[in-house]
Amino acid sequence: MDRFIYLDNNATTPLDPRVLEAMMPYLTTHFANASSVTHHAGRMAATAVERARETVAALIGAAPREITFTSGATEAINTALKGVFEHYQGKGRHFITCLTEHKAVLDTFAYLEKKGAEVTYLPVDSAGMLDLDALETAIRPDTVLVAVMLANNETGVLHPAADIAAITQRHDTLFFCDATQAVGRIPVDIAGLGADLLCLSGHKFYGPKGVGALYIKRRSKPIQTGALLHGGGQENRLRAGTLNVPGIVGMGKAAAIAAEEIQTESGQLKALRDKLEAALTGLPASFINGSAAPRLPHVTNITFRHVKADQIMTAARDIAMASGSACVSGTRDPSHVLKAMGLSDADAHASLRLSLGRFNTDADVEVCIGQLTAAIGKLRASSPIWQLHQAGLMD
Ligand SMILES: *Cc1c(COP(=O)(O)O)cnc(C)c1O
Repeated sequence: MDRFIYLDNNATTPLDPRVLEAMMPYLTTHFANASSVTHHAGRMAATAVERARETVAALIGAAPREITFTSGATEAINTALKGVFEHYQGKGRHFITCLTEHKAVLDTFAYLEKKGAEVTYLPVDSAGMLDLDALETAIRPDTVLVAVMLANNETGVLHPAADIAAITQRHDTLFFCDATQAVGRIPVDIAGLGADLLCLSGHKFYGPKGVGALYIKRRSKPIQTGALLHGGGQENRLRAGTLNVPGIVGMGKAAAIAAEEIQTESGQLKALRDKLEAALTGLPASFINGSAAPRLPHVTNITFRHVKADQIMTAARDIAMASGSACVSGTRDPSHVLKAMGLSDADAHASLRLSLGRFNTDADVEVCIGQLTAAIGKLRASSPIWQLHQAGLMD
């Protein structure tokens, strides 16, 4: 790899060197179990975990006791949805979610459907937006929870969480928000958002992999979730298992950095993203998915008609990009998100996601524009379908 350019920051972000530095002592000398409060080393580990809990909580404006550490967003999602399903059977078994959610949410609901849950999957419009009236209409007396993500991982489309929270509160149902793509990348404030439950993941904001958190709002009538993992009673009996101290410390450091830098960084990344979009939509028969909706500042999802994203990625192999979401790539299925927005299979297969991050530079964007322009031009020049399009015989 001569010059490898990483534009897949929605799949995962590189570890910030400052995060690694903060983690190192807990991987080496301070290795003690945070539950070993019988000795000083254990108490030091426990203190480091509580400091991280404060920083992660502060990043979203929550109280530290509302944060439960998990192995990542997937585990937080499973804990929340399975726990609510189990504990609210007295109220009902109906859930509402959206067709464009992450697979961690959709697959958990598919599992719960087998266990007797009834799930309503709300559609989105061509911009990737939900119809809030349709959401409100879908709520029934037996609806226990509404799960809608804050930012879509494939398109960056932002859902109006505060409006959704207002609706769920009006109907006395819970609101779970998968904020994994938003936390640490744009300002997220739980008070403004109004979610009852929310998940986040360290490796999506320059922290380590294998650590995340579930936020559970403390209310006068406590939210019942229960544990997914049983054992030593860690995390207030919500998540058993020896705490991943280095990982938690790392996510805490990543949260502290994000709190400081998020505002400037998201502005800088937006400028780079806008430059990328301006150049690439200058190519014929290309369009941005979700451009009519509010979006994350660092992501773009672009369709280049009549070229396969796979072929573009092969031709521009120095650039790490994604087609569809990383979790389902390797499969040949077109992106469920783009399909839900009304794209044809062919257009979905002709779509690329470019996601910028903290360590990208203007030079990266220049190289990317050059390589993609060349690759797409070359692929189209040798494509019979493109000739038909050029001749006006095809859209
Ligand atoms: C990455 C991601 C997840 C899964 O997070 P992990 O911590 O890797 O389990 C869930 N939801 C969204 C929106 C994501 O982007």
